[in-house]
Amino acid sequence: MSIRVLFLGGPGSGKGTQASILSRTLNIPHIDTGALLREEIASCSENGKIAKKQIDNGQLVPFQIVVSMIKERLAKFDCANGFILDGFPRSLEQAEGLEEILIELNIKIDAVLNIDIPEDILIARMAYRKSCPECGEKYNTKLKPPKQDNICDICNSTLTQRTDDTEETAAKRIQTYKTETEPLINYYTNQNLIVNINGEKSIDNIFNDILNLFKEEKNNDNKKIKA
Ligand code: AMP
Repeated sequence: MSIRVLFLGGPGSGKGTQASILSRTLNIPHIDTGALLREEIASCSENGKIAKKQIDNGQLVPFQIVVSMIKERLAKFDCANGFILDGFPRSLEQAEGLEEILIELNIKIDAVLNIDIPEDILIARMAYRKSCPECGEKYNTKLKPPKQDNICDICNSTLTQRTDDTEETAAKRIQTYKTETEPLINYYTNQNLIVNINGEKSIDNIFNDILNLFKEEKNNDNKKIKA
């Protein structure tokens, strides 16, 4: 059995958090494009330099960089039993790029989980976001605070705020989401892959909804997720 799902949702929707819990629960890789790009920036590569400029501006990193990064990642051995894509695709062009990669690998996406949440909540959430620079664990000082102020529960490192979580960049990212990424909801609805998830609940309740979906799908003849 392999499960291949894709998370959609605005910046700050909590898709990364849900993808990370789902990845640990199902024991399949969580492929987070934003995190891969931040690694690229940390390695000071040419692609990293280009990515940094775009990320700090709240804009999408060029198609070729992102698509080749994903192509390489999906071909790795650990994706054989499924994967969770978080933050890719983010435009129709990228969705078409993903189609080509899937055809080459002879695999299909089972479902697209769209975390649905109003815009004003997105902006507020981003302002409270912190993450661990060492292990990548994500926090929100209001919704999911660390046990000890500013210290990672998992590896004890000091938490940091992303440079693109400032109010100005956050607003630009939401604009980019609306113009570039939101059309994907229609794209995947037309492919009968979209599952809408109410993103206004607590982290645990959203995750329960996702797990229930897997259970419901198990008993459904037209199932998307073959868990
Ligand atoms: P995230 O960590 O998913 O919020 O992504 C942070 C930033 O990385 C985004 O605002 C974009 O600038 C860039 N990024 C992440 N995923 C993609 C993608 N699929 N295509 C282009 N740029 C991306």
